[in-house]
Amino acid sequence: MFDTLQDRLQATFRNLRGKARLTDADIDATAREIRLALLEADVNLAVVKEFVAAVKARATGAELNQALNPSQQIVKIVNEELVEILGGQARQLRFAKNPPTVIMLAGLQGSGKTTLAGKLGLWLREQGHTPMLVAADLQRPNAVNQLQVVGGRAGVPVFAPEPGNGIGDPVSVARASIEEARRKYYDTVIVDTAGRLGVDAELMQQAADIRDAVNPDEILFVVDAMIGQDAVNTANAFAEGVGFDGVVLSKLDGDARGGAALSIAKVTGRPIMFASNGEALRDFDLFHPDRMASRILD
Ligand code: GDP
Repeated sequence: MFDTLQDRLQATFRNLRGKARLTDADIDATAREIRLALLEADVNLAVVKEFVAAVKARATGAELNQALNPSQQIVKIVNEELVEILGGQARQLRFAKNPPTVIMLAGLQGSGKTTLAGKLGLWLREQGHTPMLVAADLQRPNAVNQLQVVGGRAGVPVFAPEPGNGIGDPVSVARASIEEARRKYYDTVIVDTAGRLGVDAELMQQAADIRDAVNPDEILFVVDAMIGQDAVNTANAFAEGVGFDGVVLSKLDGDARGGAALSIAKVTGRPIMFASNGEALRDFDLFHPDRMASRILD
């Protein structure tokens, strides 16, 4: 997803190679190229400005490290600043002292929530947890069925309203699921919620009501990395309407520019915790800001 950004930054660094020291003009030119590379990758403008200012200040003040040549120093600074905008340290899931740990998924329709429920369920199961998925997306006719299929593939049980009962209240389903988890000793409950194609006041309220009913330990905002600047706008809308503790980037395997998604941690102040890079259940892992930065810069 970040091939062009990688190429552009590497070309920028190449221009500095062989220079014994950097003039102000070199630093200006480099800052300009980094700015263009980030903007072209669709990184949020405010994030780009802050990023470039930080790199420039540090390169000018040159925390001079005699062991590194100027181009290595710039790479080091850019790397550290990238890690910073991506959220710094990787953040682990917080588990409740008294199980079940409740993880609620929020995001637009099509962002990858249902798929993520299966991925996360499998990931937790392989770590010795006993997760249960909850179908609280009753908006789309096929959503319950889709979650059951995903749960089946992941080997994780699914709590869903009985078919044909006309049960249409996702808040009651979510509430009942916690009771069920206690009864059956599931230690983690993953609640899938409904999402519209665009931000929608009614569904935002529904997500907030589900949140209040299940009191989640973690609310994860799932965002399709391919949707461009809307990723940032949607993240802000969900931060305000429901609130969330962490971000999951999905579809990092796509060929869109993806930089907007990389801006979310900085814009919302919430860490990116997981990343998905494919439709298969194992195309998923913890997000490591340092590894992502290295991938972009290597
Ligand atoms: P939901 O509406 O938020 O529950 O989204 P879904 O989980 O149904 O995902 C929407 C579509 O995106 C499905 O076709 C998924 O297979 C696909 N999808 C989900 N995650 C990824 C991913 O990381 N990469 C790719 N390429 N496709 C994904």
